[in-house]
Amino acid sequence: MAACIARPSSFAPSGGTVLRPRRSAANRGGFNSNYAGRSSLVRVVGSSQDVRKENVVIVGAGIAGLATALALQRLGIRSLVLEQGESLRTGGTSLTLFKNGWKVLDELGVADSLRSQFTEIRGMVIKSEEGRELRNFDFQHLGQEVRGVERRVLLETMASQLPSDAVCYASRLQAIHKNHMGETSLELEDGTRLATKVLIGCDGARSSVAKWMGFSNPSYVGHSAYRGLGMYPNGQLFNPKVHYIYGRGLRAGYVPLSPMKVYWFICFNSPSPVPKVKDPLLLKKEALDLVKNWPGELLDVIERTPEDTIVRTPLADRWLWPLISPQGSSDGVVLVGDAWHPMTPNLGQGACCALEDSIVLARKLASALAHGDAGSAHVNEALQAYTNERWRRIFPLTLRANLVGSLLQWENQVVCAIRNNIVIPKLVKLEPLLEHTNYDCGSLQTTEGLNAG
Ligand SMILES: Cc1cc2nc3c(=O)[nH]c(=O)nc-3n(C[C@H](O)[C@H](O)[C@H](O)COP(=O)(O)OP(=O)(O)OC[C@H]3O[C@@H](n4cnc5c(N)ncnc54)[C@H](O)[C@@H]3O)c2cc1C
Repeated sequence: MAACIARPSSFAPSGGTVLRPRRSAANRGGFNSNYAGRSSLVRVVGSSQDVRKENVVIVGAGIAGLATALALQRLGIRSLVLEQGESLRTGGTSLTLFKNGWKVLDELGVADSLRSQFTEIRGMVIKSEEGRELRNFDFQHLGQEVRGVERRVLLETMASQLPSDAVCYASRLQAIHKNHMGETSLELEDGTRLATKVLIGCDGARSSVAKWMGFSNPSYVGHSAYRGLGMYPNGQLFNPKVHYIYGRGLRAGYVPLSPMKVYWFICFNSPSPVPKVKDPLLLKKEALDLVKNWPGELLDVIERTPEDTIVRTPLADRWLWPLISPQGSSDGVVLVGDAWHPMTPNLGQGACCALEDSIVLARKLASALAHGDAGSAHVNEALQAYTNERWRRIFPLTLRANLVGSLLQWENQVVCAIRNNIVIPKLVKLEPLLEHTNYDCGSLQTTEGLNAG
């Protein structure tokens, strides 16, 4: 049972296991409770069962879910976060966060604590698979801020700023429907039931909420990634730069995270999504085999990686075509982060954009909720305004990340030779490459972000 949701004694589990398809709600109930107030167990009129009522429910305690809960909290709005796991996710090793991500973490009040733990990255070195240096960039003159961050630490830091009962673990969303009051009713796997005025789907790339809204699963893009965390108990001596190594249909990289940890990844072509491998020793062996003749420092980082930190992920994205894709919000339900816009990691922007989403959504929602009892129409307008603003940012980035991935995964010998001898050494410019990290989603307080149209 969900740790922080009392399961009503009168509740009989429905036994239904599928999410029902999206129905348009004919009747929109008035918003007649205080959004900033705490929730309570109340009897829903017309129902024979006790249902916990919430004003804002967030599904998923990943980066998107915790950032959204924190952003709302900073604007005086309490939310309940439902997480299917028994605890915060610790897999996925690490992420590189750029300037736009750090701006959001500043807004959320957690950036300085993270800055003190993770090394600032000062540039980027690109090498060929033989170890020849193709280019060496510095970030200093760009006013850039880049750091690799352990996902576990990022999640724990955000969660630590929320009240202890804000996240309900072991709470897997199983079914959604609209009740006769226009609220969204949620059924958890253990039979617990809730009703909420606003449902925020932050449940990742295979989001149940997105499915319910009509979104298809993300599409596999033809390459997959290994990731891991190398440990240097006596200290690592790497230059604080992102180190890339480009091969043919294969690329790798490593990023010093902290004095004793180095994050690494390998992207490799594979015609179909790689199957799940449970044996961590096998994953490590496969990763090492892929790059066995590559520069020694990469092999050293992989060798020094505890097997249980290694993951392999098929890379996928979903393009939000105008007029074709479902809307990112509808009638009190909205999506944030990978649940809405899974993108490939080629620009290192998935989590950064999830963070941006949280600020824009919280800002717009808070302003709508300030209308109190008459808030329902305002809330839907706010959710729509959020999706409009964010779509303009997300759609081109998703395409760009996909394109960059396709270019970097080229196997053709001639194309790779041109890339290594002309494009990277002579043509690539850092400013346009990182231009998307200058995006400013605005602060929680201001009415609009500087880039918002
Ligand atoms: C190889 C790789 C490298 C990447 N590198 C970077 C990078 O360098 N920089 C960057 O910015 N981004 C990067 N990303 C992208 C980043 O990891 C994602 O964008 C980010 O994790 C999205 O966060 P999220 O909270 O939306 O989803 P998730 O992290 O997937 O979190 C979803 C949460 O919802 C929970 N959940 C799911 N279903 C349910 C349910 N039914 N009920 C309750 N809870 C549920 C899950 O348990 C999980 O905790 C990378 C991605 C990959 C694959």
